[in-house]
Amino acid sequence: MASSRKQRPLRDLLRVKPGSKVDAAKLDPGETYGYRKDDVAPKLAADLERLAALQERLWAEHKRRLLIVLQGMDASGKDGTIKHVMTGLHPLGCRVIGFGVPSAEELAHDYLWRVHQVVPGDGEIAIFNRSHYEDVLVVRVHDLVPKSRWSKRYDQINAFEQTLADEGTTILKFFLDISPDEQLERFKERYDDPTKRWKFKTGDLEERKRWDDYMAAYSEALGRCSTEAAPWYAIPSDRKWFRNLAIAEIVADELERLDPRYPAREDLPKDLVIE
Ligand code: ADP
Repeated sequence: MASSRKQRPLRDLLRVKPGSKVDAAKLDPGETYGYRKDDVAPKLAADLERLAALQERLWAEHKRRLLIVLQGMDASGKDGTIKHVMTGLHPLGCRVIGFGVPSAEELAHDYLWRVHQVVPGDGEIAIFNRSHYEDVLVVRVHDLVPKSRWSKRYDQINAFEQTLADEGTTILKFFLDISPDEQLERFKERYDDPTKRWKFKTGDLEERKRWDDYMAAYSEALGRCSTEAAPWYAIPSDRKWFRNLAIAEIVADELERLDPRYPAREDLPKDLVIE
């Protein structure tokens, strides 16, 4: 990318406009908006530094909360994003929560029960690796509950996220968009590489056969649940370096907008002698 040309913020380019119709299958997972792999290392490093400094202020301020939701098909890079973008964060103020197949106890409650318990508290960043959106994705694709139930969940999710936002939580939701070809490559790599094999699940091959159903489910989730309070960002993720670049910039920009402040500590006497 020519440094003389001012690039538009990626949050403007990638945000799913509230109320828009989305066709997830038509997004381009290979788009890089003019950025080139060989040129982006300094920008990524600068954004990660910005992110770490702002997160420390968020934690020190201890007033506001940030929820980051990561969704995407298998091997879309949810774990990789956490490893590469959330690196350098103060561990005390940061939690990662993975949502797998619900336990018997979780299934005995409404689907938001397990989610609400782990939303971020004051000063915290919570990163959801999968989320309540599974309840309109895998649940819809596999008919795990009747349509009469899952079809109401879009409005319920919007109301839930609005409540969190009204109470002081900023929400950023990222759809990591990969192509079926790229997924296949990553599956093969996982299978062939002994250091990655532990991630490979034969069940993932079954899910892959339902790609179109998943894209239809993602389209509706992104279209109906990208709101002012909790926007979705569709991140082209075939290139890992662009995915990391985009998410680092968007999270850092959002924290900058929040502008967390170190507490002033007016409670401390001005003339205290520390010896
Ligand atoms: P990952 O595949 O993300 O590395 P896991 O091995 O824990 O992590 O798998 C998560 C699995 O749990 C996924 O197949 C996902 O679809 C499934 N899952 C998550 N939430 C639900 C849900 N609410 N109902 C059914 N399955 C779910």
